[in-house]
Amino acid sequence: MADQNQSEAGRHQEVGHKSLLQSDALYQYILETSVYPREPEPMKELREITAKHPWNIMTTSADEGQFLNMLLKLINAKNTMEIGVYTGYSLLATALALPEDGKILAMDINRENYELGLPVIQKAGVAHKIEFREGPALPVLDELVKDEKNHGSYDFIFVDADKDNYLNYHKRLIDLVKVGGVIGYDNTLWNGSVVAPPDAPLRKYVRYYRDFVLELNKALAVDPRIEICMLPVGDGITLCRRIS
Ligand code: SAM
Ligand code: CA
Repeated sequence: MADQNQSEAGRHQEVGHKSLLQSDALYQYILETSVYPREPEPMKELREITAKHPWNIMTTSADEGQFLNMLLKLINAKNTMEIGVYTGYSLLATALALPEDGKILAMDINRENYELGLPVIQKAGVAHKIEFREGPALPVLDELVKDEKNHGSYDFIFVDADKDNYLNYHKRLIDLVKVGGVIGYDNTLWNGSVVAPPDAPLRKYVRYYRDFVLELNKALAVDPRIEICMLPVGDGITLCRRIS
């Protein structure tokens, strides 16, 4: 038993692992008991398409997709934004949760991956809720911030893109989200590397972005304009509720 625990602990230090839980068996239990049996058919289809893509490590996990879908319904989100779409798993989780007249402004520098998942989103009957913008998100946010009528207009914003820009996004998003609305920053536990010792053998990209994630986490923790809650779902998601 001790050996088994040790080898599981070892595996969990590996970069790219999908869960921060202490055992793979426990994570499988969550997936098999409560996630997969309730996963909408289009999300399953998109997950299977994405699994064949070479960058599939980037996708939102099924349990996080279920969490986002539930959260959006709980807060009655209608006007939303997503930064970092990839093949659209979190986007579809969002689109399915919104009412018929709900909106998602979705941004990604890569249209090709979005288009891989788009037929599934169309078939699910929710593509009309999505406005996709190809290109870097920051200039789009700058444009939005210039127009006062966009201020306080978003119920929910999911940020899942270039971690070295999260603080730049936050500076703008805090004006765009409404008071009482939520910004979700994804991957804030960065594969557990936020607590890795300085000499830990981290992959290059993990090491590079880790400092940005650490800086973001510190900044969010002391930002008086928000209440925060860091959840060990997926790779860690920090929910920020704007309070002023
Ligand atoms: N939310 C997605 C899902 O559920 O599959 C995963 C997003 S993936 C982790 C990160 C995405 O951010 C990539 O598709 C990448 O092209 C995009 N990205 C990187 N830099 C960006 C930028 N400056 N602006 C917008 N998107 C960016
Ligand atoms: Ca993510």
